[in-house]
Amino acid sequence: MASVLQAAEVDSLRELYPHRLVVQAIRDQLEAERNGGAQPADRVEAISRRLEEWVSPHLRRVINATGVVLHTNLGRSPLSERAVEAVVQIAGRYSNVELDLESGRRGDRQSLVTDVIRRLTGAESALVVNNNAAAILLALEALTRRREVIVSRGQQVEIGGSFRIPDVMRLSGSRMVEVGTTNRTRAEDYVAAITPRTGALLRVHTSNFRVVGFTEAVSLKEMADIARRHGILLIDDVGSGAMSPGVEPSVLESVELADVTTFSGDKLLGGPQAGLALGRSELISRMARSPLARAVRIDKLTLAALEATLLDHLLGVPTPAARMQALELEGLQERAQTLVAALLARGISSSVVPSSSVMGGGSQPGIEIPTVLVALPGRPGALATRLRRGRPAVMCRIQDAACCLDLRTVAPDEEAELVAAIVAASDPSRPNDPNRPGV
Ligand SMILES: *Cc1c(COP(=O)(O)O)cnc(C)c1O
Repeated sequence: MASVLQAAEVDSLRELYPHRLVVQAIRDQLEAERNGGAQPADRVEAISRRLEEWVSPHLRRVINATGVVLHTNLGRSPLSERAVEAVVQIAGRYSNVELDLESGRRGDRQSLVTDVIRRLTGAESALVVNNNAAAILLALEALTRRREVIVSRGQQVEIGGSFRIPDVMRLSGSRMVEVGTTNRTRAEDYVAAITPRTGALLRVHTSNFRVVGFTEAVSLKEMADIARRHGILLIDDVGSGAMSPGVEPSVLESVELADVTTFSGDKLLGGPQAGLALGRSELISRMARSPLARAVRIDKLTLAALEATLLDHLLGVPTPAARMQALELEGLQERAQTLVAALLARGISSSVVPSSSVMGGGSQPGIEIPTVLVALPGRPGALATRLRRGRPAVMCRIQDAACCLDLRTVAPDEEAELVAAIVAASDPSRPNDPNRPGV
């Protein structure tokens, strides 16, 4: 250890990193060698790599060549220019997040976005929280705790990971009453289940799957009528937050019919991770007063991005996800041909094949968007791994035993990097990191 520490090259590391970190890296390197790892030709270089790895961010940019527009594992929606600018403006400075600049009194962060949400959706009031899961949990906790909530068995969904409707219901302290069957639920099923203990009907959009065939579901309009007739609430989890008319399930229709509507900020809304709850003022106020509201409070950077995204909608500026979704096949074909030519110029012969992209993120299941893929030569698994481990990382799609790239989800200004990444990944003798300093 002492001799390693004295090596002249280590001094240069000490200039770059705190002493303690350098000592740790040396210790780890020597231990790895003792535990069977051979001594590398250049030990200082190995130590330097360890340090570099420790101090590089682990949350990294990824080029999404999967064609899944709202890829949950890749952060769902990329933010618009306006939203990125808003985050940058607010992040490094002070802001009026909880200050009313007019009166100089303490302000409410929620009030910063209620006007724009009202104008956009016609909702009486709104509350924005950490994500949609939190919005539903908060709605149930604040509005139906210790009461019964009726849900169709066809809507007992798992959204991903551990977000299952029965679990959220239990956590909120509400009692779930299931009605109907997986494929069919009728209005009479809801009506028959209503008792004096019933607090609400809950509709959950079946975001990530579709039941086809012998099916029957009760329309939101019918559910609203039943709820109104029996003096109970209708809570509607629309999931993806589609603002455009004609895209199901529509936020606007839900706001008109349900007492509380919830959805995500980072699906079809195209903003940051957030949950929006829209509804009658009295109900939204009850939600805001719950201690849980504080626990799921939205952060100021998210709020900045969310407000900007809502302004985009108000101004009719399509979000990046919406623009990607709308890209025409012809333009994608041209870009694919250009990529094929650029790769050929570097000795890689790829080809263009027809396929389809999907919206993803638990929105519009079963809807395929025609696209073209650039199919790369070589063993797909190994190539995909090298692309994924490169910097920037590239996520591709395996189709017909080839590693394929869908340019729908690749920004045009990422294409040069993409070419460099493919060139690096296609040659196993090279480090697969074209941007690595010193390579
Ligand atoms: C995606 C989704 C959720 C979860 O939303 P998050 O914002 O990821 O918490 C809940 N319900 C439905 C119907 C969804 O589609």
